[in-house]
Amino acid sequence: MQRRSRSGGRSHRKKAVAVGHLVGTSKYNVRREAMGSARTFDSKPRLSISAADFLPAERSLDSLQQAAETCRGCELYKNATQTVFGEGASNARIVMVGEQPGDVEDRQGHPFVGPAGRLLDRALSDVEIRRKDVYITNAVKHFKWIQRGKRRMHQRPLIRQVIACKPWLRAELLVIRPAVVVCLGATAAQAMLGRVILISKERGKLLRNQSGDTICVTIHPSAILRLREESQREREYQRLLSDIRVVSDYLDNPTAQ
Ligand code: SF4
Repeated sequence: MQRRSRSGGRSHRKKAVAVGHLVGTSKYNVRREAMGSARTFDSKPRLSISAADFLPAERSLDSLQQAAETCRGCELYKNATQTVFGEGASNARIVMVGEQPGDVEDRQGHPFVGPAGRLLDRALSDVEIRRKDVYITNAVKHFKWIQRGKRRMHQRPLIRQVIACKPWLRAELLVIRPAVVVCLGATAAQAMLGRVILISKERGKLLRNQSGDTICVTIHPSAILRLREESQREREYQRLLSDIRVVSDYLDNPTAQ
């Protein structure tokens, strides 16, 4: 068996601390938190700073939203205009989770109000779900971006940033207690399921995570908008509708699943 040198172990540990800002844990544990259940996401050892340090004692959607405005659980607040918290019915049976606010959302302070939000509105209307009956949020509450010329281009959040932000999502779900959580895209799915998933393989199915949430994974509307061909966009849009119909069928008849 190959033995790891002492110095190798130390440098590994040093790197883990640098990557995860960890206290009393290792890079392996960060991965476990990323891949594991909500228990591993939410329990110690955890990141030294995360949104958990900013949660209010009293948990309503209003108090959570207010507290999230001053969250410094990771560095993403530094370049964003504001926190974009979830919005919608506090008794929603469906919670939809995207990745993070986009450029328009960051400026306006509301989730899914840009082009992807308009496509989602159209999809909800096509399957006869009223947006006001749904709670819509993101796995990460601040816009992560990079300047390209005059444009602020979206950047995918790192897994440690998703983990740092997860306490807000968990708190929203604990207040709302929805029947189903719809994950729009891989980042939301990873946040909810605690593992990397292939959207193409798992979309449109009802899944369970270790917290007992019922989850349906589908594509993020912005991924549809990025497709070049109109025919491709239409095909993917129809698949999005079909995934959301799985959710509405389940709500109509939960025991049939
Ligand atoms: S992205 Fe989430 S954890 Fe990071 S600062 Fe914003 S609200 Fe806090």
